[in-house]
Amino acid sequence: MKSNNAPPPQYVINDSLHQLFDAVDAVSVQGYDENRQVIYWNFGSELLYGYTQEEATGQKLEDLIIPESIRELVVAAHSDWITKGIEIPASEITLRHKNGSDVNVFSSHVLFTNQHNKKQMYCIDVNLADVKHAQSQALFNEHMLEAIIRAIPDLYFLMEVDGTIIDYHSGDHKNNYLVPNQVIGKRIAETLPDEIVSKFQINIDKVINKEGMVTFEYELNMPNGLAYFEARISYLSEYNQIMTIIRDISEQYKSAEIIRNKAYFDTLTSLPNRFLALDRLSQMLTESERDNEKLAIFFLDLDDFKKINDSLGHGVGDKILIKAAKRLKKILREGDTVGRLGGDEFIILLRGIINEHDALVIAEKLLKTFREPFLIDGRELILTFSVGIAISPENGNCASDLLRNADIAMYEAKSLGRNTYSFFTKEMNTVMLRRFEVEEQMHGALERNEFELYYQPQFDVKSGSIIGAEALLRWHNESLGNITPDEFIPIAEQTGLIVSIGKYVIKQALRFLNTWQKNNQTEYTMAVNLSPRQFRDLQLVSVIKKSLLDENIKASNLEIEITEGVLMSGQSYIHDALIEINALGITLSMDDFGTGYSSLSYLREYAFDVLKIDQSFIHGIPMNKADCNLVKATIAMAHSLGLSVVAEGVETQEQLTLLDEFDCDLVQGYFFSKPVPEMQLLDFSNSYKLSP
Ligand code: C2E
Ligand code: CA
Ligand code: CA
Repeated sequence: MKSNNAPPPQYVINDSLHQLFDAVDAVSVQGYDENRQVIYWNFGSELLYGYTQEEATGQKLEDLIIPESIRELVVAAHSDWITKGIEIPASEITLRHKNGSDVNVFSSHVLFTNQHNKKQMYCIDVNLADVKHAQSQALFNEHMLEAIIRAIPDLYFLMEVDGTIIDYHSGDHKNNYLVPNQVIGKRIAETLPDEIVSKFQINIDKVINKEGMVTFEYELNMPNGLAYFEARISYLSEYNQIMTIIRDISEQYKSAEIIRNKAYFDTLTSLPNRFLALDRLSQMLTESERDNEKLAIFFLDLDDFKKINDSLGHGVGDKILIKAAKRLKKILREGDTVGRLGGDEFIILLRGIINEHDALVIAEKLLKTFREPFLIDGRELILTFSVGIAISPENGNCASDLLRNADIAMYEAKSLGRNTYSFFTKEMNTVMLRRFEVEEQMHGALERNEFELYYQPQFDVKSGSIIGAEALLRWHNESLGNITPDEFIPIAEQTGLIVSIGKYVIKQALRFLNTWQKNNQTEYTMAVNLSPRQFRDLQLVSVIKKSLLDENIKASNLEIEITEGVLMSGQSYIHDALIEINALGITLSMDDFGTGYSSLSYLREYAFDVLKIDQSFIHGIPMNKADCNLVKATIAMAHSLGLSVVAEGVETQEQLTLLDEFDCDLVQGYFFSKPVPEMQLLDFSNSYKLSP
């Protein structure tokens, strides 16, 4: 603003300036003579005040756009300027539109003297409506931002690139690490822990160099515990400032941690799960290789755990697993790992082992802690386990090899009678490889017609005549050659393939029995072996029934041989199937008597008709006194229960003579015939009939 004492500038308005004013319609330019009558009115004035040039020209300033209330003031100020040279200062002022509405303008004025020495005032008015709008918009934005910051849980601050906080907002002040008025003007280095400050610095550098936004996480010790935060920072390059938004992600972090735990830890026992345990194994392997140390891997499998689950329920099973896990953990040193591989399988990783003996000591210790019974729901339970041990680097130097080898050794421990441990040896690997090969070849063997039944005749001791035969399975495979049933039957059992193979055996055996009976006009019997796994097949009884019908065989001429293993699991489906088999009138035979638990209660519980004394006892007679007594007693006992007795594995005349003495009913064995193909049995029984 100019000083009132300074002489007013005297300009001469000319046409070229009018032309300029005519061209700008964003500002209103009005010219007035000494009587305040309009002498110039540009289009900008028409736009702002509503009067056309024609309407305005000649009109007085105060009649056109000056509101009533300031009319006198304006007239006076104008005359003061002309007469006394007191300049009208530029100012914000509210004038009037033709339609009577207010017009907010910023008004500047100049005074010219024309060629006739007459004074002319020019007013230049800028519409303030847009500016006002922009101002209120800015104010609104500011309020809105405040409301948003209040509403969202994030906190926000603005920093110089050197980390000086220049603005800080947060919705909820209660849980803030920093209080706004204490941090503004300070550098983050003065307000936050060092390691977080350096995280900020690294990321500030990043964001300055490549713009955009970066996100990072950090944790802070808060009064109510550790909290986790996520910071997003972006660089406002126009202002050289860093905008930061901080979000408390503690809740997400905790739930992510729960998920992480679920992924790495077994929920029942809280032990590392298979994934984590194997990951640790890999890690330990790298470390022990570096430190030139040995590592022991224990593969642990609870013995007969399935039985506990089946008989006492899963609740008890779970409790045992939890307690077993605790006992295992107790024994181990820091740095060792015990994990649950799944089911009743655990893994133990021991580092810093000097030799096998170290592992052996720990294995013994583990077995010993399990001698103490588990107390569960007021019941004392004894639980044992079998351990397979593999040592690195001798038995492998990658996690999967070591685990597999420890697993193989565990199987060995099981077959040694459980409740023991076994170290992996290369020979075991050969056995396992063979097992895998056999299993592989067994798939499709039925379709390829690789199975054949052999028959071993059975004889009546007193009359010496053939009364029937036992069907025994043979398998010849292209690449493996002949595989004995002792090898392939257990594998068929474990894989479940025995179900389909067993059906084939039943059908084949009865088909041949039909031929054999017709051929010799004799009611021979046929004994067929059934494995425990076959009883789980719901079709078993109907397959037997149908085969009997198809081949027109009397049920009593079919003999089903089962071992105690079938009965021991105590499953109800086995019980039901045996009842049905008995109801059909099929003969039931107890195989391998004397080798298992030989519980007499089974003989009483189920309707057995025949008892087969295991060949290991027959081999002992007549030399072994104990065997002789046992065989004699068994025969007497069986007879007293109404069972007839078969002696298996009779190889000599002496054995036969003694068995006759003991009143044994039936015999089978190499002394009479090995198991033979059906044609051979037909020949054998034909010729035998002629000369017994
Ligand atoms: P098992 O039921 O105890 O069968 C008797 C085994 O003793 C047969 O062996 C037979 O060949 C053999 N044997 C017979 N007489 C003598 C003898 O005088 N001396 C000697 N040393 N051995 C004799 P194989 O055929 O190798 O069968 C072994 C086992 O495989 C059978 O034992 C049986 O448990 C199982 N098995 C065979 N065929 C089948 C089948 O079709 N189904 C099922 N589930 N198991 C079968
Ligand atoms: Ca048998
Ligand atoms: Ca047997």
